[in-house]
Order: sequence, then C-alpha cells, then structure tokens
Amino acid sequence: MVAAYLEKLNEQQRLAVEHGVGLPADKAGGPLLIIAGAGSGKTNTLAHRVAHLIVNGADPRRILLMTFSRRAASEMSRRVERICKQVLASNAAIMTDALVWAGTFHGIGARLLRIYAEQIGLNVDFTIHDRADSADLMNLVRHELGLSKTETRFPTKGTCLSIYSRTVNSETPLSEVLRNRYPWVSEWEQQLKQLFTGYVEAKQAQNILDYDDLLLYWAQMVGDPELAEDIGNRFDHILVDEYQDTNRLQSSVLMAMKPGGRGLTVVGDDAQSIYSFRAATVRNILDFPKAFSPAADVITLDRNYRSTQTILAAANGVIDLARERFTKNLWTNRPSGERPRLLTVKDDNDQASYIVEQVLANRETGMMLKQQAVLFRSSSHSGPLEVELTRRNIPYVKFGGLKFLDSAHVKDILAVLRFAQNPLDRVAGFRLLQMLPGIGPQTAGRILDTIAADPEPLVSLAEVPPPPKTGEDWAHFVELLAGLRQSGSQWPLEIAEARAWYEPHLDRIHEDAETRKSDLLQLEQIASGYPSRERFLTELTLDPPDATSDQAGMPLLDEDYLILSTIHSAKGQEWRSVFMLNVVDGCIPSDLGTGTTEDIEEERRLLYVAMTRAKDSLTLVMPQRFFTGGQHAQGDRHIYASRTRFIPATLLQFFETATWPAVSAAASERSARQIRIDVAARMKTMWK
Ligand code: ATP
Ligand code: MG
Repeated sequence: MVAAYLEKLNEQQRLAVEHGVGLPADKAGGPLLIIAGAGSGKTNTLAHRVAHLIVNGADPRRILLMTFSRRAASEMSRRVERICKQVLASNAAIMTDALVWAGTFHGIGARLLRIYAEQIGLNVDFTIHDRADSADLMNLVRHELGLSKTETRFPTKGTCLSIYSRTVNSETPLSEVLRNRYPWVSEWEQQLKQLFTGYVEAKQAQNILDYDDLLLYWAQMVGDPELAEDIGNRFDHILVDEYQDTNRLQSSVLMAMKPGGRGLTVVGDDAQSIYSFRAATVRNILDFPKAFSPAADVITLDRNYRSTQTILAAANGVIDLARERFTKNLWTNRPSGERPRLLTVKDDNDQASYIVEQVLANRETGMMLKQQAVLFRSSSHSGPLEVELTRRNIPYVKFGGLKFLDSAHVKDILAVLRFAQNPLDRVAGFRLLQMLPGIGPQTAGRILDTIAADPEPLVSLAEVPPPPKTGEDWAHFVELLAGLRQSGSQWPLEIAEARAWYEPHLDRIHEDAETRKSDLLQLEQIASGYPSRERFLTELTLDPPDATSDQAGMPLLDEDYLILSTIHSAKGQEWRSVFMLNVVDGCIPSDLGTGTTEDIEEERRLLYVAMTRAKDSLTLVMPQRFFTGGQHAQGDRHIYASRTRFIPATLLQFFETATWPAVSAAASERSARQIRIDVAARMKTMWK
C-alpha cells in the first residue's frame, strides 16, 4: 500500500521524493537536481523527500536541510514533522525540528565552525558581525589608515564593504570586480587593498567573523581532506532549496562535503535567480549535471499548483521576453480567474489609499490580512503605505526592511552580551564604553587597547584605573562584566542583569525610554527561547526578527496582519492576493543599478518572482508621479513615471487595465491643469 502522503504527489514529484530511497547502499541517493518553475511544488517535494527518508529509516540527525531563510527552514521542518507524524504516529516524539539540521548556509556554517573551532585554530568564543557592525569595523580601520581624512572622495564604508564582500564571495580578483562593477572607484584600488588587508587583520585580532567569513572559513575547513570527510560524513543526506541563488563558495562547500554527490539533492529555478548582486551565480544550478556527470539525475516539474491560469499566463508572458531561454513551460489545472490588474493611480499617496481600501474590501469577503501581501522592489517604496496603514490602524509586518536589531537600544544591550562573550570585539566595546558618562572615543580606544594586550582581557579590565568623571558607573560596569563572564551557564538570567544595568543609562540617553524598555523586555522573552548566550547572539545576528507596525519588534503571531515585503524576501512564499507597488521604469528595473544587460535581466526575473507569488488575485500598481518632498530648495518636486518596460504593449492582452479612482487618466490630468490655472488667475488678481 502506498502511503497517503505519496498519493497526493504527481508522478514527477513522486519520482523526486522516492529517488534512491530503498535501493542498496552503494546505489542509493546519487546526486539529484530538481529544476522547475515557480509554484510547481519544489519546496513541497523537498519537504516530502525529507519526511520519506525519515519514514524509511534515515536518521534525522544526519540530515542537513539548507534553505534561504530561517523562516523557510522552520516552515519546512514543520511540514516534515506533520508528514512524519501521520505515518509514525507512535514515534512522533522523535520528530522535533531540533534533530534535522535545518537552517541557512550561514547559520549551519556558524554551528559547524563552533564545533570545529579548535581544530582550525579559531577561538571558540568568536562573535559574529552583521552588515552594520562590519561596516563600522571597516570604518574604524579606514580611520586608522587615514584614508578618510586625506582622501575625501574615498568610497563610503558601505561601498567598501560591498566591494570586499563581492570579491570574496565570487572568488574574483579585486581589480576585476572594480572594473566590472565599481568602475568609478577604480582609482582607489591600492588603498582598497590596504584597507581590506587591515580589515581582515582586525577581524582576526578581535576574534570576529563577518557573514562572509562563515562561508569562507567553512570552505577553508573542508579544503582539508580529512576535515572534509569528517564533516561530510556527519550527514547522510544534504538537501538544498533555492539552489539558483547560491554562490560559488556555497557550491564548493557542498562539493567538498559530498565529492561524488551521493546523498545530495538540490532544488531551484533558473528563471528566479535574483541574488547575483550578492555574487550568487545561476551557473551553479545549470552546471550541476555536468559537475556530477554521469551520476546526476535531473527531474523537472511543469505543473503549477499555485496560481490561476490567468496569472500564470501573464507571468509566463513576462519571462518569455527574457534574453535567456528558460525551457520550462508551466501549466495549471486551476480555472482561469480574473486577469491580473494593471492599475494606474495619480501618485504614491493614491497608491497607498487604493491598497488600503482594497485590502479591507478583501477582508470583508473573508480573506484574512495574512493571506494578502504588498510587494516592492525596494524597501524604501513602502513609506506612504506604512503611514496610511498606521493611520487606519491596520497591523502589518514588514519583511526585508528595518530589523528589530537596527534600533539603538537593542544594539546597546546586545553589545553588552557580545562584549562579555568576546572582549576583543572592538565595535561592541566602543559602543558599550561610550555609554558611560565621561568616556569618549579616545578613552574607549585606550581601554580597549589595554585589555586586548592581556590574555585575560576581562581580568585586566578590573585593573584599569577608573577613567575620570565616570564615578560609580565604572565600578558597576566592571562588576557587571565580571558577573556576565562567569555566569555563562545562567542564561537567560544574564540578559536580565544586562538590562538592569542598562536601564538607568537608557533613561539618560533616550527620551522615549518607556517604549524602548518594553522592547527590551520583549528581547528578554525572545532570549529565553534559546539554550545559550552564544546561540542567541549567533541566530539573532544571522536572521534578526523583522520590524512590525506596533514597534514591538516581533510578528504578532496569533493575530491577523498584512504582509509587506521586498521581492527578495518574498522568495518561495505565496498569498491569495498580491499587490505590487511602483511597477514603473526606474523602480523596476531600478535606476539605482548599473544598467548593464545582466542587471536589467535580473530585474525582469524579479518581476517574475513577484508575479508568481499570487494565487488568486494580482494587482500591479503604477503611480503616474512621485513626490520627492523637501529635498529641493525649490520645494516639492515630482517625477513622472511610466509603465515598466517589462510589460510592453504586446503583453497588455494578459492584463485588465484600469484607473483609480475610476476617472480617465486624461480627465485627472485635465483637472490638475485646471487647478494650476485657477491659482495663476488668483495670483494675478493679488498683484493688481
Ligand atoms: P517557488 O518556485 O515559488 O519556490 P515551489 O516550486 O517551491 O515554488 P511550492 O511552494 O512547493 O512550490 O508549492 C506551491 C503550492 O503548490 C503550494 O501551495 C503547495 O502546497 C502546492 N502543491 C505542490 N504540489 C502539490 C500537489 N501535488 N498537489 C496539490 N498541491 C500541491
Ligand atoms: Mg519553493
């Protein structure tokens, strides 16, 4: 008898799920690539495959599942658990997601590095810098080298970090990266080399890893044949979702861990590759069969289960115009619904009003807010909409924008914990020391130098003479850190200690101390869900919670809320109703890109990703103009916009075109002109 969960799958999906399961050991599970279009059930199939492996006796602790975000990982773990529970009713308890190694490449890298730290000469107390901290460290080094003073046009810390990151992730020489991507800073090549050398040394001296290091060290680690074998042998099965968005380092790590590809399953869609700005390369997925030739099996899925026929037709139309040919031809059995709407509105305020009205109207018909999403190319596009949502008291969660961790007070408290974990971390140290009244950057720098010279930095901290004007505060500070350093096992009590110490400073530094205090309470609650300080810091840094409309930082899980998301963060997800903001040239394709053909093509794929998120209803909104208020001496200025070039006239047949409010565009333009004329007439009467 076939298990019920297999019966729901189509033939191709089932082949992928059962691939190599139940064969003799030497034949089992050769490398498998599932390459298929949006909504064809790739992620679903991968989850079924994990469950099927476990049901057939695979040890869940020896399965590694890598996804694009931690959210995606836990969603998948839940699905796996659900399927397994149906089958293994009596053994359900073994199926907690703590057993399968599920997470992002970076998260898994961090876990492995902690385990193998000693063997690769890494201090196990290393702390991880997020992008903002990395940029701050880059800045510190830049100052030390005097590059920011003498060279006034030197690239910003953020640009420096992007160049550095692209260079290491793509394993490309700096000069080539500059020539291809940053031609306007080529003149600084020598100084950049010096800066990057300094940055790398600073990280080592301070026992810090940045995001890129998690992959770099991992790659380095599996470059050693013995370690590679040891780490590879921890896992019988490695499965990767969204493989089209991995970079060369990530694929080389996989190859080193599973040289013959046995037990390796990767899944993705070349038409959805949207991360080349982070050095992801679609070659990874396209070259997979060659890399494991002739062992690799390739399965394609072509039935879309997500969208109505009409939505799918429009999305297919957009991707068909791509320069590259994606061979998949998606079809669906779902009835054709309404055609996607291409809606013209006057400006971005009208865009916000329209969406709010429509979202509420949908809710009236029984569609929860959670089943609706508003997508945008850039996080900055949602400003007017957020204002309108807040004004109308509609709760929302925004993905891919401001993070909970970006607020100063949360960073402050984390700096306390990070410094206790790793007193060599200068970015944390600077932040922390300067919270004390009487300590400026110079004194802080001196203190950090003194303790860094000591093998027991926090012991020597106690011996630093109290800096002038710090009074009682210094003694409290030293006491706090000594306590934190010793109480490693008392997690999460430590975070309460840190908070108690910080709150008086908070009152002094910030006016709205009360709301900030409630955030910190919330942080404490989040912290209690983690087994240790180290895990808490690592996971929070790698995948910080998103900001929500109630400013409390955490999604209001049990309540209903609207989803706002950048397209990049919407990857892999689906909603009944999807709205997309600013579907105009300049926003998509973004005029902030370099404008090369490759960049434009990636923007086209982004639009495709956005459109294929919708199940039942899709609305693309096009404001005719934007206001750039206040930035110009002459006052407000508006920019006129036109429909994105990715939807040329030949594709209009796939859409329902409309204007909101329901007057013709010509009429609304006429009335605007009328008002201007009236004003002009009135002015004239005033001069008389
Ligand atoms: P994306 O490319 O956007 O990541 P995907 O290929 O990973 O999409 P899934 O998210 O796995 O697609 O599936 C899309 C939708 O189709 C989900 O709602 C899923 O439950 C449904 N689905 C997948 N396979 C089947 C099936 N055999 N029968 C019914 N529904 C299915
Ligand atoms: Mg998917």
